[in-house]
Formats: sequence, C-alpha cells, structure tokens
Amino acid sequence: MSLLDKFQPYADVRDELARATVAPVATPIDRVLSATRGEIAGREVLLAGTNNYLGLTFDPGVIAAARDALESQGTGTTGSRMANGSYADHRALEHELITAFGARAAIVFSTGYQANLGTISALAGSGDHLLIDADCHASIYDGCRLSAADTLRFRHNDAASLDRRLARLGAEAARTLVVVEGLYSMLGDRTPLADIVEVTRRHGAWLLVDEAHSFGVYGERGLGVAEHDGLLEQVDFVVGTFSKSLAGIGGFCVSRHEALDVARMASRPYVFTASPSPSAIAATRAALARVLDGAALRAQLWRNAERLYAGLDALGYRLGAPEPGPVAALIMRDRASATELWQQLLDAGIYTNLMLPPATPGGESLLRISVSAAHQDGDIDAILAAFPAHADARRSAAS
Ligand code: PMP
Repeated sequence: MSLLDKFQPYADVRDELARATVAPVATPIDRVLSATRGEIAGREVLLAGTNNYLGLTFDPGVIAAARDALESQGTGTTGSRMANGSYADHRALEHELITAFGARAAIVFSTGYQANLGTISALAGSGDHLLIDADCHASIYDGCRLSAADTLRFRHNDAASLDRRLARLGAEAARTLVVVEGLYSMLGDRTPLADIVEVTRRHGAWLLVDEAHSFGVYGERGLGVAEHDGLLEQVDFVVGTFSKSLAGIGGFCVSRHEALDVARMASRPYVFTASPSPSAIAATRAALARVLDGAALRAQLWRNAERLYAGLDALGYRLGAPEPGPVAALIMRDRASATELWQQLLDAGIYTNLMLPPATPGGESLLRISVSAAHQDGDIDAILAAFPAHADARRSAAS
C-alpha cells in the first residue's frame, strides 16, 4: 500500500457521482438568486437545503453593513488577532454576544468549525476528560482529537448513559467537559437538555452546548435551545456559528465564566489563524441584531416548519425527529431510494440535501430538507407537491 492508495475509495465515489446528471453531493449551484432561489443545471430551483434558517443572506441591512465595512476597512485583516492586532469590530461583536447571553466572556472564531476546535481543545487538556454525545458533529470530534484530554462517548440523547459514564469517572467528573448539540442537524432532533443539565450538575462536571443549528431558531431572543428550555444559566459554554441563522461566516463561544476570555491564549485555532474579515464581522453584527429582534422571522420559520412536517408525515415518510423543527430528515430505505428521491425532487425544481453513510448516524440514508423564514406558504406547498404521487415511492422505510 503506497501513500496515495488510500484515496481510491474517494475516487470511486467521485466517479460514481460524475455519472449522475447532477451530482447529489457537492451539487454545483451555478448561481444564487435569493435566500430561497438558485440555478442548478441551467434552471431555477427552490432552495430547501441551505440552513439559511432566517433567510438573512440577502437582508438589505446586513448587506449594507458588510459593504460599508468592506469600503472603509478593506478586504481582510491579513493576520491573527494575537499577532497582528485585534480590530474594534471583533471586540464589539464579542461584547454584543456577552450582552445578548448575559455572559461574562466571549471569543469570536473564524468559522464555527474552529469555534469547536478552539474551545474544546483549550478547555480540556492533559489529565482532563471529554464526554460527548455519540452523534456530535465532526468539528466536536476533531476538537477532541486536538485536545490532550481523553475522550469518551455516551449514547445519543441518553442522559442515563451519560450518568453511568460520569459515575465511573468519580471525582474526575470535576475535570470533565460534557459536550452536546442543541439541535442535531442530521435527524433534526433536540437534546434533552434538562436531563443532561441535571446529570452533569449532579456529578460536578462542566457542560458545553453547540447551538450551531438552534441559534436564531429557538428561544424568545433566538439564543438557542438552552434559552428555550430556560437553562441558559445552567450551561457553562455555548458554541455557535455565524454561518446558518446569522447568514455569514465565523463562530463563537460565550460563557458565564470569565476564564473563557483568557483561554483564548491557549487556543491554537484562535491564535494561529487569520481573524474574520471586517465585512464578515460587520455583516454578523447586523445579522445578530436582526436575530435578537427576530420574533416575526421566527414565527414565519416555525409556521413553515410545522406545515412541512405535517405534510411529510401525511405523505407517510418516516421522519428523524418526533416534532417539527428547522430541519426535516426523511429516513429512507437505502442509498438507492434516497438518491432516487433526491433526483426526483430536483427534477421537480426542489433542491434538498442527500446525506449518505458513513456521514450519517446509524448508517441511515437521509434526505434532508431545511426550511427558512424566507420561504412563503406557497414554497412549502411546492416542496410537498414535488414528492412522487404513487404510494410505493412514498413509504420511505415503512418496514
Ligand atoms: N457545529 C455543528 C453542530 C455543525 O453542524 C457545524 C456545521 N454544519 C459546525 C459546528 C461548523 O460550523 P461552520 O460550518 O460554520 O464552520
């Protein structure tokens, strides 16, 4: 086996995808026309696979803020905040996050991926423990790999499994960081946060909640599942991304512990990479204001989520979550039926996401639809109408 032989399976997948009329993975989107419309293979499609939950990518105020910063502060920062200087707007955004969460410290990262890498690897070091939900995102797993702490998993959304692991750690629980996600984007299910908090607190461990997909969507001010469940003060660290509801790029961690502020100095993914560009920060600050004041946007998003969930349920699909949410995941029988449905929907003018094993929990083949506050009632009806009419095709994994 030579150095490059390990890439053969990737080449096989690429060749398989190249045979499809339109690649169902890394699908070429030729043009983006709005928060809900794009052009794929020469025709206009309805975008229903974007994580653009509040539809803010084309918000005039957000665009104007980004344009002003671009013109007044230039295209990039050309370095890291530690080495090359910390801009006023980076610090202002951190303050706005601290205020929004009623927290004591915040760090802005260049991506959400780096927010997990940088937070987890800085907080948990040699002799510490990381205890993560088995279905956590790759960035959480990679944060654990970058950390010198030892990592254990507990069963997905299973507080009893977490309880057993923490009991086994005994006094070591005091140097253990538990990591969960507010909303798991593969199946669209929420963490049982009250149970996770109770177990974590009882053992004296620490809790980090990644609200990447729940920020902007849950809670009166859109702060996420912890706010929605009235548990913000019980959570030690909240991680989030700017790339979904906030419609830009970057990520953050906020904490009620002041020590997070100094942890940035020990965070390699913070120290050794360039800080976000001024336009990215300005866009995020404008979008954050829209999120905090976004009750009307959230109301429309939830109307859409409920309409879609009810429609898919009525069509007979097996759904990944027991309740509506911004992501609806259809659990399909196998790869072939998932791919076929994805293609049928695209042929009908609807772009969704195909998620195949090994990237999926439980090795399931998933068709994932995400809704946006920018979708109109008619868009949700169009998505539902695009599903094949005959009953055989409808039953996703009926057996
Ligand atoms: N955390 C979770 C739970 C995610 O789903 C993602 C990305 N989908 C990230 C972090 C990384 O965020 P970003 O893509 O903004 O880097």
